[in-house]
Amino acid sequence: MVEKRKPIPVKEAVDRVMKRAAHVKSESVPLEEAYGRILAEPVIASHPVPPFDRSPYDGFAVRSVDTKGASGESRITFTVMDHIGAGTISSHTLGEREAVRIMTGAPLPAGADAIVMLEQTVIDGQTFTIRKPFAPMENVSPKGEDAKEGEVIVEAGAFIQPGVIAVLATFGYTNVQVATRPIVGLLATGTELLEVNEPLEPGKIRNSNGPMIAAQLKRMGIDCRLLGTLPDDEDACFNMVKEAIHECDAVITTGGVSVGDFDYLPSVYKRLGAEVLFNKVMMRPGSVTTVAHVNDTFLFGLSGNPSACFVGFELFTRPALISMMGNDKPYLPYTKAVLTADFAKANPFNRFIRAIYESTPKGSFIEPAGFNKSNSVTSIARGNAFIVLPGGTRGFQKGDEVDVLLIGKEEGVESWMLN
Ligand code: AMP
Ligand code: MG
Repeated sequence: MVEKRKPIPVKEAVDRVMKRAAHVKSESVPLEEAYGRILAEPVIASHPVPPFDRSPYDGFAVRSVDTKGASGESRITFTVMDHIGAGTISSHTLGEREAVRIMTGAPLPAGADAIVMLEQTVIDGQTFTIRKPFAPMENVSPKGEDAKEGEVIVEAGAFIQPGVIAVLATFGYTNVQVATRPIVGLLATGTELLEVNEPLEPGKIRNSNGPMIAAQLKRMGIDCRLLGTLPDDEDACFNMVKEAIHECDAVITTGGVSVGDFDYLPSVYKRLGAEVLFNKVMMRPGSVTTVAHVNDTFLFGLSGNPSACFVGFELFTRPALISMMGNDKPYLPYTKAVLTADFAKANPFNRFIRAIYESTPKGSFIEPAGFNKSNSVTSIARGNAFIVLPGGTRGFQKGDEVDVLLIGKEEGVESWMLN
């Protein structure tokens, strides 16, 4: 008898997965390797930024009190006593109507409290004149204007983008405490599968899901353990997955999760004693996507159909792995766009259409990325987003505004925006 499965809404499925995403440990990595990792500790300013009052311009440091009354008719003359660039400290303390020629980034000399920009002066040898008064601290970058000592600059759980690297460098972090990356095993199942380097044979196809998922992981900064390819053989799959769960935080399989005669993953989960979080989702493609959990290890049973496999990974595996690293922005960014082509097919379940999204000054537009059945591989190659059409709707027309999830962005968002 064919097993009867109860489909659940996508949002419910996402929630069930995310509830199980426990944090992994942290480790210290050199700053040069920290890009793309997740901060395990907040970055706290260990000193003010800038650490001293400094000049933001090339010009002259003066005492503002000496500039009082300056005007076009009555210019005030200053004598230049010293000349400093960034990284140098003047030993001169300014007296009345004295100035120090100063370059961007240099600390203000003692006594100075304003900067006259070069273009605000008329220079004559060792003197210059000005035609306007300067207020105390005018044109000065005061100590601590960018950050106060003790201020939290970036929270734990943040994605380390280049700006975070700059802040870490500012505060002298040669090593950074980051979330350990989850250990992920990857297994492709299917008797029809050939390796990438094998010539085609009748009835066979090359394993494209394995390399695709490895790349999806790589774009999250995660290297996977390749468990290889197995035929549809229950014992072989069982032994492989059983072995892998001891070493992995997540084991991803593709293929064999449907209700066909050679789909053995459901019995494998049963034999492992895994808790199946769901095995049917109200979505197309990928309705048979199954997620289970055993001994603190996630089992992501993705469909063998390439588009379904891709969607299942992006909707469930990706946010779970990101959340395990303590990042609170695990979901695909959401937006809306105008359809530029009809999509006439009815949508019994939520439909995730591989699509080409473009944002222009005239608005955001999106179109399906070609052949769009669950077994399509080409639409994944062309797409940079999903059009999400709600279940229970008829077709959509060109000009309709639709929900969009963006794929491949460095950073995600805090919440799942769809039903
Ligand atoms: P399954 O999920 O095992 O029922 O497979 C569904 C469809 O996806 C079948 O047409 C398979 O041949 C195909 N398929 C399964 N695994 C892969 C794979 N690793 N790469 C590409 N296609 C696959
Ligand atoms: Mg199969």
